[in-house]
This record gives sequence, C-alpha cells and structure tokens, in this order.
Amino acid sequence: MNIHEYQAKAVLRDFGVPVPRGIPAFTVEEAVKAAGELPGPVWVVKAQIHAGGRGKAGGVKVVKSRDEVKTEAARILGSTLVTHQTGPRGKQVNRLYIEDGSAIAKEFYLSMLVDRVTSRVAIVASTEGGMNIEEVAHDTPEKILTITIDPATGIMPHHVRSVANALKLDADLTKQAGPLLSKLYKAFTEKDMSLLEINPLVVTKDNKLICLDAKIGFDGNALYRHPDVVELRDETEEDEKEIEASKYDLNYIALDGSIGCMVNGAGLAMATMDIIKLYGAEPANFLDVGGGASKEKVSAAFKIITSDPKVQGILINIFGGIMKCDVIAEGVVAAVKEVGLKVPLVVRLEGTNVDLGKKIIKDSGLNVVPADDLDDAAQKIVAAVKKAAS
Ligand code: ADP
Ligand code: MG
Repeated sequence: MNIHEYQAKAVLRDFGVPVPRGIPAFTVEEAVKAAGELPGPVWVVKAQIHAGGRGKAGGVKVVKSRDEVKTEAARILGSTLVTHQTGPRGKQVNRLYIEDGSAIAKEFYLSMLVDRVTSRVAIVASTEGGMNIEEVAHDTPEKILTITIDPATGIMPHHVRSVANALKLDADLTKQAGPLLSKLYKAFTEKDMSLLEINPLVVTKDNKLICLDAKIGFDGNALYRHPDVVELRDETEEDEKEIEASKYDLNYIALDGSIGCMVNGAGLAMATMDIIKLYGAEPANFLDVGGGASKEKVSAAFKIITSDPKVQGILINIFGGIMKCDVIAEGVVAAVKEVGLKVPLVVRLEGTNVDLGKKIIKDSGLNVVPADDLDDAAQKIVAAVKKAAS
C-alpha cells in the first residue's frame, strides 16, 4: 500500500527525521491559508499523487510570493498530471502540499527496500539525486552504492561510513548521516515498509541534510498491525478492481493482457498465467480465490474479472482440493445470471465434486467451453479470443 508524500513526511517526522515544514491543502483557499502559516520567502506547491516525476511534469513549483502560491495551486489542483510513472492516462490531482522552500546545495538519492536475494533491508545511495534511479542504474551503475543491513545489528558505523563515502559527505554531514540512517531504518522496520525512497535527499546551503521528497510503500500483509497506516489509504489512487477484491479477501492483481483468469491457489494461478503466455496471449489479471472460497466470494471474483474492459475471454482453472468444484460452479453461474457473459468462457474443473460441478454448469445452459486439462484449457481460451478478435 502506498501513501502520499505529505503523509510519508509526517510518518518520518514522528521518527525525528528532518523534513521541511509543510501543510496539505484540498482547495486553493486552503493552499493560500497554508502559505500564510509558513514563514516564506520561498514556498513550494506540490501535487500529491501516488507517482513520482511530478517535478518534470509541472506538478512541483517553487514560488516566491503568496500570490504565486494561489496561481500555481489553482493551475495544479484538478489538473491531470502525466509523469513517467502514471502511464499515459495520467492522474488527477486532488490534493496539494504547500511546503517551505529549501535552499539546495546538492541533491542525492537514498532509499531502503527489502532485498529478496539477501532477505535483508538494503540501502541504496547515489550522488545522482533528483534523477530517475532506473536510468542511473542502467547508464552509470558505478554511481550507485547498495549495502544490506544485518537485522541482528541494525545500522552500524561502517554502514554510515559507506554511505558517507559514496555521497562524498564532509565530516559535519557524516555526523548528521548517522542518526538520519538510524531513524529511517527504525521507521522502515517498525512500520513494516517495503520501500522508503528519499529522492532527493538534499544538503542545504547551510550544510544540513534534509529529506525533500519521500515515497513510502507498506507491506500489505503487515497492515493488520498498523491501523494508523491503514487510515492513510487514499482509495482514489488505487485500482478499483483491486479495492473491490480486497473487500472479499481475494488475491487479485490487475495486469495488462486480455484473458481474465480465475484460479485457486497462487501456484496454480502462476502456472495458468505462464501457460496462457506460452500459447501466445497475455493474462488480464492474477487471481487466487483461495482455499475455502464461498459461492459469494467466487461470484464477486467473477464480477471483478468481467468488469475489466480489457478482458476478451475468461479462463477458470480450478483444482478442487479443499475448494469444491460445485461451489465454484454455483458462484460462476450466479454471477453470470447477474451480470451476463459477453466473452468466451473456458472452464477446467478437476478434483473434489468435479462431476457435480460440471453438471451444475451444464444444466445452467451457459455458453461454456469445457476443458480437460490445463494445456487444453489454455489452447481453447487463446483460440476463442483470437477468433473473436478476427
Ligand atoms: P518528484 O520526484 O515527483 O518530481 P520532488 O518532491 O522530488 O517530486 O520534487 C522535484 C524537485 O523539486 C526536487 O528535486 C527539488 O529540486 C525541488 N523541490 C521539491 N521540494 C522542494 C522544497 N521543499 N524546496 C526546494 N525545492 C524543492
Ligand atoms: Mg522526487
């Protein structure tokens, strides 16, 4: 789960991390009022969307008067920002952050993330701040330092020295980097973050290290431990289908392809996606309905899949173990009765109560293509989608 920059900065501030003063605003009036509460003489008007690259897209403006705060707030609020992270449709700006302007001497990149290879938290640091870090990693990988932290020790002096060296910090800044890294690491681990990205971390003209931008992603599986974090959720920034799926406790991730998949078990879901690709098509989603799904849950899952305009065909692939094939069949039939079926549907059922499941589908009179195994099912749905498209 992601949050806005102003929320991320509030989280970090609670851990004593140096961030500029700022006030969120939902209207132009609030923006002007916020500017009045900040000392100036430089303010920054920042669009709050769940995407980076706002600066280049005109969503971050440094201004020198309260009048300009008003003009920029009016221009940015309600507009649609297209950045390299939003996709071509862009994101509408519904919130602003009015912040103290900092006098910047240098901009760095600093992040913490869970490194799956080492199973540790990794720190990534680079002198190339404010830039797209993927580009830096591609073009000049020698400018990126990556170190991993032993969970038993946490941040040690040698970690601080490595980062200070990589960023070419002087003695005074190195002294500030120690507590800064410790506080960021504490925030990262205590709040179960999956990503904490400070881009840029800046050195101000009076030689202070501060976090000028902050992006935080939280581990969704640990959210139950953090009701305060759940409060920060902005559903307008998330995929509607994924929100709906989370209400039913379905493991659903929207993808870009054309074949909707309903599968039980994450492993089978991965295999199903692979085999769809093998036969030359792309999955529209990952969906694991779980082990003991009810008829209602299956029905909800089916509706989520059919509500996706990209879906041109549906493949249901169920191996009934704990999950019973008849429950799946009833859920699908109920959903189709409610929302209709406009695309080809291939169903492969196997396992517990398979005959009953097949009978329910057959008796329903639905236009379903039955399949015998995974290979057969994938070939049939890919062929059906290609035929419908031609
Ligand atoms: P994004 O990463 O979405 O482009 P940032 O918050 O990183 O947004 O802002 C882009 C740039 O704007 C920064 O690299 C920095 O140069 C400038 N900037 C952002 N916040 C401030 C601030 N409080 N004071 C001065 N400059 C700022
Ligand atoms: Mg940034």
